[in-house]
Amino acid sequence: MSRLLVIGCGGVAQVAISKCCQNSKVFTELCIASRTKSKCDALKEKLESKTDTVITTAKVNADSKDELVALIKEYKPDAVLNVALPYQDLTIMDACLECKVDYIDTANYEPEDTDDPEWRKIYEKRCEEKGFTAYFDYSWQWAYQDKFKAAGITGLLGSGFDPGVTSVFTAYALKHYFDEIDTIDILDCNGGDHGYPFATNFNPEINLREVSANGSYWENGHWVETKPMEIKREYNFEGVGMKDMYLLHHEEIESLAKNIPGVKRIRFFMTFGQSYLTHMKCLENVGMLSTSPINFEGREIVPIQFLKALLPDPASLGPRTVGKTNIGCIFTGRKDGKEKKIYIYNVCDHQECYKEVGSQAISYTTGVPAMIGTALVISKKWDRDGVFTVEEFDPDPFMDMLNEFGLPWKVDEDPVLVD
Ligand code: NDP
Repeated sequence: MSRLLVIGCGGVAQVAISKCCQNSKVFTELCIASRTKSKCDALKEKLESKTDTVITTAKVNADSKDELVALIKEYKPDAVLNVALPYQDLTIMDACLECKVDYIDTANYEPEDTDDPEWRKIYEKRCEEKGFTAYFDYSWQWAYQDKFKAAGITGLLGSGFDPGVTSVFTAYALKHYFDEIDTIDILDCNGGDHGYPFATNFNPEINLREVSANGSYWENGHWVETKPMEIKREYNFEGVGMKDMYLLHHEEIESLAKNIPGVKRIRFFMTFGQSYLTHMKCLENVGMLSTSPINFEGREIVPIQFLKALLPDPASLGPRTVGKTNIGCIFTGRKDGKEKKIYIYNVCDHQECYKEVGSQAISYTTGVPAMIGTALVISKKWDRDGVFTVEEFDPDPFMDMLNEFGLPWKVDEDPVLVD
C-alpha cells in the first residue's frame, strides 16, 4: 500500500503516471496535481478504467511552499514525484522537508528569472569558481543534504533518461564491466521526425535555454567551456543512422565527475538537424529566446514564454512523430588490467510509445525512469537519508525494471569511439 503525489501533468508526467498505473502493486494510490486541475482530471479519466491504482486530482501552485505543504498534509503521500518544471524544485523540496516525505525529480534546479540580482550574485560566483556558465547546477539541491538526512528522508535527483538512465548505465558499467572508467561519452540521438519546421520535444523554454547555452565538458579534474555548438561530431546510431551531434553542457556530467572515482573525461553530445539549428539561431538573434521581460503595448511579456505559446505543445507531437531515439553511454577503461570499451544504450521507437501511452519517445524515455526511480524509493529498495543522484544507488534493480517497463537496453562490447 503506497500513496504518491505527482506534481505536474505535462508530457513527461503523463507517461510517468501511465507507467505508475501499469505498476499498481507498487503504486496503489496516486494524486495528480498542477495549476490546471482540468488537465489532471482529463488524465485521470483516461487512465482510471484501465488500472487498479486509485487516482485523485488536486489544484496546486508549486511555486508556493504553503500550498504544497497544505496539499501534502491533506493527501499524506509516502513520496512526491516532481515532474513540473526545474523552477519548482526548491519549493517542492522545502515542502517535502517540512512534511518529512521522500522527494524525486528529473531535472536540476534553475531559476525562472535569471535576472534576479540575488540569484545572479551566487551564480556569477559559481561560474568563476567552477568554470561553467549554465544556469542550472546541483549546488542548490545538494545544499539540502544535511537537512534531508536529519529529517530521515530520501531526495532522488535526476531520475529521467539523461540525467537518470545515463547515470544508472554508468553505475552498472562500473559494477559489472570495469575496475576503472577513464572516459564517458553520453550520446543522445533523436532520429524522430514530427513534420513541423520547428518544435521542441519537451518544454520549449527549458529545452531552448539548454541548447542555446555554452557547451562544456569535464577533463582532468576541471571544466572546459566551449561556445554553443562549437564541437560537432558525426556518429552512426543503430536504428537511426548517421547523425550530426554537438557537445552540450549537461547536468549529469557534474554529478558523475563527483561520484565516479578517477574518471578523466566526461562529455555529452546531442543530435540536431540543420533546420532546427537555423531556426534556433534566428530566434536567438531576434531576441525571442530571452528570459528578460519586455513591455509590449502596456503589458509585460517574457519573449521565450511568448514563443512557447506559439510553438506546438510537445505533448501533441505523439501522433505525428516517426522514427527512433538511441541514447546511451560509451565507456572506456580497464578490467583486470586489460583495456576495455562498451556502449550501453536503449533504442526507442516514437510510434511504439504513442501506441502504448499516447506520447512520443522523449516524454516516454523520461517518464518511464521517473516511475522506476519513484518505485525504488517508495518500496524502500533504494533507501538512504539525504540527497542523492541515481548513480549513488545499486543499479541492478533499476536496470531490470528498464527491461520490464519498456526501455530494454543493450551492451555493444566493440563500439566505434567518438574522437
Ligand atoms: P511540460 O511543460 O509539458 O509540463 C510541465 C508541467 O508542470 C505542466 O503540467 C504544468 O501544469 C506543471 N507546472 C508548471 N508550473 C507549475 C507550478 N507552478 N505549479 C504546479 N505545476 C506546474 O514539461 P515536460 O513534461 O516536457 O517536462 C517536465 C520536466 O521533465 C521538466 O523539468 C523537464 O526539464 C524534465 N525533463 C527531463 C528529462 C530527462 O531526461 N531527465 C528530459 C525531458 C524533460 P500547469 O500549467 O497546469 O501548472
